Amino acid sequence: MDVMNTYRSILKWGDPAHEEAFDAHMLGFIGKTFGLSQGDLREKYLPGQDSVRLKKPSIPRTVIAALEKIAGKENVAVGDYERAYHSFGKFYLDLVYLRLGNVKNPPDAVVYPRSEDDVVKIMALCSAKKIPIVPFGGHSSVTRGVEPVKGGISLDLTRHMNRVVRVNEVNGTVTVQPGMYGPAFEEYLNRYKSGFTCGHFPQSFEYSTVGGWVVTRGAGQASTGYGKIEDMVLSLRVVAPRGVIETRDYPAAAIGPDIDQVIIGSEGAFGVVTEVTMKIRKRMPASTAYVSFMFRGFTDAVRAMREVMQAEFGKPHLFRISDPEETDVAFRLKGKDGSLADRMLSLLGYKPMQRCLMFVAVEGDRDYAKLVAKKIRAVAKANGGFATGSSPVKKWLEQRYSSAYLRDPFMDLGVMTDTLETAVSWENLVPLWSAVRTYIKSRPNTVCMVHISHVYENGANLYFTFLSPIRKGKDVEDFVSFHKGIIDTVHANKGSLSHHHGVGKLMAPWMRRELGTTGLGLVQAIKDYCDPKGIMNPGGTLGLK
Ligand SMILES: Cc1cc2nc3c(=O)[nH]c(=O)nc-3n(C[C@H](O)[C@H](O)[C@H](O)COP(=O)(O)OP(=O)(O)OC[C@H]3O[C@@H](n4cnc5c(N)ncnc54)[C@H](O)[C@@H]3O)c2cc1C
Repeated sequence: MDVMNTYRSILKWGDPAHEEAFDAHMLGFIGKTFGLSQGDLREKYLPGQDSVRLKKPSIPRTVIAALEKIAGKENVAVGDYERAYHSFGKFYLDLVYLRLGNVKNPPDAVVYPRSEDDVVKIMALCSAKKIPIVPFGGHSSVTRGVEPVKGGISLDLTRHMNRVVRVNEVNGTVTVQPGMYGPAFEEYLNRYKSGFTCGHFPQSFEYSTVGGWVVTRGAGQASTGYGKIEDMVLSLRVVAPRGVIETRDYPAAAIGPDIDQVIIGSEGAFGVVTEVTMKIRKRMPASTAYVSFMFRGFTDAVRAMREVMQAEFGKPHLFRISDPEETDVAFRLKGKDGSLADRMLSLLGYKPMQRCLMFVAVEGDRDYAKLVAKKIRAVAKANGGFATGSSPVKKWLEQRYSSAYLRDPFMDLGVMTDTLETAVSWENLVPLWSAVRTYIKSRPNTVCMVHISHVYENGANLYFTFLSPIRKGKDVEDFVSFHKGIIDTVHANKGSLSHHHGVGKLMAPWMRRELGTTGLGLVQAIKDYCDPKGIMNPGGTLGLK
């Protein structure tokens, strides 16, 4: 069987030809934790190994011919596999539907524009014919962002529009096309003269693009120092059905509402981002200071984190706390439970399922990094933090992207695994953490790991990862009701609908509650202006009509 033609090759994170597998230690841990039988552990559940088959597209042949005339015949595809590939992102249910061989909403065609000029012409054609356009980057969306629920065209920017246009060392900026993947972009900057960095490293870095980062308001692991993507973008070019929007790369301005900030977070519902100018920073990896601590409890760790952010001595770049369950799972997976270190920590009052790990990395000039790390050590100590050295942070950074590869083997064993994240003010953080954990843990045999990874003076994000046995045969309904309960609990406890994954079509039902009727009406009015015929990523993106 051709592995490259299967549903599995679409759903897999990473190289479809490479299968990740758990070792015996992990299998034992998984079997015990989730109450799985030997049969569960042996057989792959819904492996998705069938070849892809779709119904014929409904787009007229004349439209295909017109698209081919614009972008070239080789850049327009209507085959089953390419259409299925462009039907989903990487939300848990996307993977379930692919495993079930159920491609509900394929695009009618996939088009790979070669330039902004192609995008302008494709948009004019689609506007005239009222054909939906769904911009497509790395398709790592976890919010049904790239799903063409009304059919039409998936506009894939990764094949051609994937280059750095220019670096301006004087201004400290780079101008880049939207379809460039994270690793190629960062490598380009690292190698440019004395070496720069973009400073944006989401966990999906390997398989996400600059355009996707911008329109979803993404955040990378070093966001506490470098900021979220909205803090990095200086100007944009956007092709909307209404026309081309171009902003200028002023360092700051007072010229009315910020148009960049209107486009950042627009998730393809207003237009297509065709060029991004963003800040770059000097890369000085040898100067980075790494420190880590163990705290006796989550409240102590959160207090220390807040004090650091409000102390005015500078900020770390990477700043993370793992809650007690995440810390415990990390110990167990590394085979460290029962070790000398484990027993020593327990004796000192840092007990399993109470203690919490904190990771810190401070980048930039060596003196600055040293000073901030020294000050953080003092705050941690005052809050009962036990210094655990630099190596846990360095080891974590080495395997930073690896956990994304574990979702597929977990699902093979019949274990659902998904993540959900929110932003919350300091005063509401611990109550929200506790309420959402209580809800998630009310499901039997469920692991709920939480961390804080993006930190501000006034609050932080909370990132929930849950793993639980799949209710086989009721995969979709069971997940939908469980997931809805989590979002409702987050919202009821004063958390935002999202901190960095965006809204997509998944969170649409909650948007009126989040923005209010007038707020949502304002966003709808912007959409109606940019996209009068409603062809851009239609079907509920951002909760819009
Ligand atoms: C394992 C995993 C880990 C993740 N970790 C993080 C994380 O740490 N931080 C984070 O922020 N996110 C994370 N995400 C979510 C996701 O990776 C981000 O939302 C990412 O920014 C999406 O980029 P993409 O190129 O894959 O966009 P896509 O998924 O292709 O598209 C996302 C949305 O943007 C629109 N779009 C894409 N390109 C354009 C364009 N040029 N113009 C207009 N609209 C466009 C699409 O229509 C869609 O609505 C993670 C996802 C996964 C699966």
